[in-house]
Amino acid sequence: RAKALGKNRYEFFSDRMRVQALHSLQLESDLKQAIEHREFQLVYQPIVSLLTHRIVGFEALLRWHHPSRGVVSPSEFIPFAEETGLMTAISWWVLREACHQMHLLQAQFSHKTLNIHVNVSNQQFHQPNFIEQVQQTLRETNLRNNSLKLEITESVIMKDAIRLADKFAQLQTLGVRLGLDDFGTGYSSLSYLSQLPLDTLKVDRSFVAQLDQSSGQEITQAIVTLAHNLHMEVIAEGIETESQAQFLRAIDCRYGQGYLFSKPVAPDAMPALLSQDTLLS
Ligand code: C2E
Ligand code: MG
Ligand code: MG
Ligand code: MG
Repeated sequence: RAKALGKNRYEFFSDRMRVQALHSLQLESDLKQAIEHREFQLVYQPIVSLLTHRIVGFEALLRWHHPSRGVVSPSEFIPFAEETGLMTAISWWVLREACHQMHLLQAQFSHKTLNIHVNVSNQQFHQPNFIEQVQQTLRETNLRNNSLKLEITESVIMKDAIRLADKFAQLQTLGVRLGLDDFGTGYSSLSYLSQLPLDTLKVDRSFVAQLDQSSGQEITQAIVTLAHNLHMEVIAEGIETESQAQFLRAIDCRYGQGYLFSKPVAPDAMPALLSQDTLLS
């Protein structure tokens, strides 16, 4: 009986592995064609002032409309795209598209100051000509350099701390700003925070979700204080309730994004959001 069970288990795993291998082969070839077939889309989530509820910018978020699987979420395909080397091309498409979209929006809403936040992938950031490609994208899309905020994660920082300082300095010279995404979820030391020219710190959604507990409140408060002491702005991610927003306001966290204000929206819905004076009333 034990033997039969063992055999079944073996077959179960080998089948599953075969299915997975086929699945990733298929996914890889699908991903390769996705740019060409225009299956990618960017959606944009407003970033608001927590004091006025006015929109100060948008974060560009990638969506893949797979012809048969429907919308595939970025957390599903981005790690895979990084692994297979496909993320570089996708990332440059994202940057160009987001800068172009923001340029159009700024022309329509010229009385507002709006930033575009773009997530930078590991692979993209570590390309030797990263700075030149950012510069070229800004030139070609006519976006002002200081309208662009690049969001990087702690894993990007951990990879190559020495050449990194140089890259950051070059971006700073260009006027492009840098934000640290998902702060508090990585493993890196805090020492780089004071050494790198980071403009913004994003408090990870997992902390905001714990603001109904005193431990979550204390951690969030500590992050906000740390950031302000280092002259960085703070954006809280994943705000879903009015009481979370209220707490963040009380500890002087000035910016936020989350479903409470708006989910990420398609480009054609952005003007309507901006035409409202404030989100929430
Ligand atoms: P992220 O950069 O931290 O983006 C925030 C994520 O939180 C987004 O998920 C957003 O839709 C979600 N979110 C915002 N407000 C709320 C809320 O109130 N509640 C909840 N439950 N979620 C909220 P999304 O779009 O699924 O993206 C997941 C991650 O994938 C992003 O995390 C980012 O790391 C990565 N990603 C997305 N687009 C790109 C891209 O163009 N390039 C790169 N390199 N990474 C991207
Ligand atoms: Mg982000
Ligand atoms: Mg984040
Ligand atoms: Mg996050």
